[in-house]
Amino acid sequence: MPPPAFEPLLVEVDNAGPTTGTGNNTYLLTSADAPACLIDAGVGTAVHLDRLAHHLAARQTSLADVLVTHAHPDHSAGAPSLSHRFGVSRFTKYRWPAEDDRRIAWAYVDDGTALCVAGTTLVALHTPGHSPDHLAFWHEPSGTIFTGDLVNRRSSVAIVFSRGGDLTSYLASLERLLALNPTRLLPGHGPAIEHAGEALRTTLAHRRAREAQVMAALGTGHETVGAIADSIYDGLQPALMPLARETVRAHLEKLKADGRAIDERSRWRASTR
Ligand SMILES: [Zn+2]
Repeated sequence: MPPPAFEPLLVEVDNAGPTTGTGNNTYLLTSADAPACLIDAGVGTAVHLDRLAHHLAARQTSLADVLVTHAHPDHSAGAPSLSHRFGVSRFTKYRWPAEDDRRIAWAYVDDGTALCVAGTTLVALHTPGHSPDHLAFWHEPSGTIFTGDLVNRRSSVAIVFSRGGDLTSYLASLERLLALNPTRLLPGHGPAIEHAGEALRTTLAHRRAREAQVMAALGTGHETVGAIADSIYDGLQPALMPLARETVRAHLEKLKADGRAIDERSRWRASTR
């Protein structure tokens, strides 16, 4: 017998902006015999809450669980609004004491935890790099991964070094997802990805190309994070330059850890070893 269809319902948050693209995606999982589960909390926009209310009413169900991929506000700040409006009984994420909203009694989970939600099972995968607390949620029977901010087909993912971003971890997280051989990725931003392996390989290749650009910038005498970012991200909209500088810094820190770059009082150069 084929496995039952697994069709998460996309519920858009309506928070388009320079760092969110067309806005955040959340995904509603419903079942005939269990209350619903939402992947990611959004930010509490009225239109998002109304859309959720509409879908829940149409299916005569309630919202019991919210799984949060990470504490960045566009994925988690809506938790109090969801709690207030729908009486959600459990908000689940990976612990990040510095960033977790203290108004919520989070149910913290570790890597590998099986989560029984909406009549099915998702496995929490600790996939740090974009943020230290990042979780992806793996639905093995359908080959689907909810990927949060690990992959975005419309723009590259920011690695914010000053807030716990780590490029080496990020690449390892992508490799880990690839090893699961998924068929579909449902990201926190941008369209669903049906060619999962190809998208993960493309994302890894993009990072390697970016690393080569950073090495080339060092080779032509660019010494500061700002100068390197300006040389690589020429033409980027100004609102995104702070994130571009953070990502360049993350690349430099990885190159330093790999023994390929040296940092002296915030002046960078290639290692001659
Ligand atoms: Zn994020």
